[in-house]
Amino acid sequence: MLKDAFRDVVYQPFWWEQRPRTQPERQPVPAEADIAVVGSGYTGLSAALTALRGGKSVVIFEAQEAGHGASSRNGGGVGNFPFKLSYNETVSILGKERAKLLWNEGKSSVDYLESLLEQEQIQADFVRSGRYIGAHKRHKMDALRSEAEILQRNLNAELQMIEASEQANHIGSDFYFGGRFNTRDGVIHPAKFHHGLLERVKLAGGLVIDGTTVTALKRDGNSILVHTPRGVMRAGQAAIGANGYTDGVLPELARRVVPVASQIIATEELSQEKVARLVPKGNMIIDTKKTVHYYRASHDGRRILMGGRPLLRNSEATDAASHLRRFMLKVWPELEDAKITHAWGGKLGFTFDKLPHIGMIDGVHYACGYLGSGVAMSTYLGHKLGLRMLGDPAGETALDGLSFPTMPFYSGNPWFLSVVAAYYRVRDTIG
Ligand SMILES: Cc1cc2nc3c(=O)[nH]c(=O)nc-3n(C[C@H](O)[C@H](O)[C@H](O)COP(=O)(O)OP(=O)(O)OC[C@H]3O[C@@H](n4cnc5c(N)ncnc54)[C@H](O)[C@@H]3O)c2cc1C
Repeated sequence: MLKDAFRDVVYQPFWWEQRPRTQPERQPVPAEADIAVVGSGYTGLSAALTALRGGKSVVIFEAQEAGHGASSRNGGGVGNFPFKLSYNETVSILGKERAKLLWNEGKSSVDYLESLLEQEQIQADFVRSGRYIGAHKRHKMDALRSEAEILQRNLNAELQMIEASEQANHIGSDFYFGGRFNTRDGVIHPAKFHHGLLERVKLAGGLVIDGTTVTALKRDGNSILVHTPRGVMRAGQAAIGANGYTDGVLPELARRVVPVASQIIATEELSQEKVARLVPKGNMIIDTKKTVHYYRASHDGRRILMGGRPLLRNSEATDAASHLRRFMLKVWPELEDAKITHAWGGKLGFTFDKLPHIGMIDGVHYACGYLGSGVAMSTYLGHKLGLRMLGDPAGETALDGLSFPTMPFYSGNPWFLSVVAAYYRVRDTIG
C-alpha cells in the first residue's frame, strides 16, 4: 500500500509547480557596489529591497538559483508568535519590558509582511485564516489555556480555546483533545511570495547573481571585499541572509547556527468538499507534540500538505516522506488511498538560546535563527538589516545586543540532532 502511495511522487516542492523557478542568471561579478547581500531568500531579498528603495546599489549573491533555500520550500504558515521560548521564559531572560517588546515584534512581523504585499502589489495568496494548535494529550489543553491567558493579558492576543466537541470547525478529525485557535495567524503561497519579492528587487535595480558562492567576506579599510570563485567585489557594506544554509563564510556565524531538516509531502488533488471538511477554514494546523508537525490545505483547497521534522538531521525528502504519511493517516485515516505526488525538504536555522538573532560579526550584518517560523520574521528582520545599512535608526529591534551563544567544539555540524529526535519521540509518548 505504502509503495503504491508513492508510485508517482516527484521529489520537489509542490509550490514550484504553480510558480516555476526562474532561470538562473550567472551575471558577471561587478567591481563594486554599495551593498553586497549573501543569500536570495526572504532575508536577503527583503534587506536588498529596503536598501534599494533607500537609493543604494545592491548585488545579491546566491550559491544556487534564486530562492533555492527554505524561502520557496516552506509550509507557508504565518504566525504572530514565532518564538520557541514561552512568554515567561523570555521574561526570565530579557526582563519584562524587553520580552513584551520582542513578542510584539512577532505581531509586527506579520503586519509588515501584509503591508509589504499590499505596497509592492505581490499576489501570494496570503489569508489570515488562523492557526489551530491541537492538544495531543488531554492535559495539554490546560497548558494551551494558561498560555492563552498570559498572551491575552500581556499582548491582547486574539485566541480562542476550542473544546473537542467544537473542533470540527477547525480540523475534520478527532485526533486531538481540543485545541486553541490563533485567529490572526495566516497562510501564504511561499514560492509566489518569493517570486514577487525577487521581481521587485530586480525592477528596483538589484543585481542577482546566481550560481555564485561567496567564499569569504574580508574587511579592507572602510569596505568589505566579497570573494567568490568568479571574482572579487568591493562593497561599502555587506549582509548575510543564509539561515539554515549558513556555511563557512563567517566561521563565527556558522558556530552559532544549527541547520535542522524539515520536510513536506503533498497529496494528489482531492475533491474540494473533502479538503473543506478536513481543514474547514483553510488554516494552518500544528500541535503540542515535541516532534513537530505542521499542515494545511493547499492554497487552492485541493490537496493536503503535511510537514514535519521527524528526523531533524537528515534533510532527504525520501527518508522523511513515509514518516509524514504515517502521521497524516493517524490524523485522517480516510486519506489511506490518497497518492502522494510531491515530497521535498529544506533546512531551518536553529540557535542554542532558541531566539532569532540580528547583529554584526567582523563588520558584516546578519539576521538568522528563525527556528522554523521565519516566513514573516525573516522578511521583517531582512527589512531591519536594510534600514541599518541605510543608517536609519528604525533598524533597531528588541533583539539588539543579545549575546549569541555557541557550544564548545561546535562549528556547524549538528551531530547531536539524531539524539534530540529520539528524545522527542519518547517525550511525545509519555508526556
Ligand atoms: C520545509 C520547510 C518548511 C517551513 N515551514 C515554515 C512555515 O510554515 N512557516 C514559517 O514561518 N517558516 C517556515 N519555514 C522556515 C522559513 O522558510 C525560513 O525561516 C525562511 O525562509 C528563511 O529565509 P532566509 O532568507 O533567511 O533563508 P533561505 O530562504 O534558506 O535562503 C538562504 C540562501 O542563502 C544561500 N547561501 C548560503 N550560503 C551562501 C553563500 N556562501 N554564498 C551565496 N549564497 C549562499 C542558500 O543557497 C539559500 O538560497 C520552513 C522551512 C522549511 C525548510
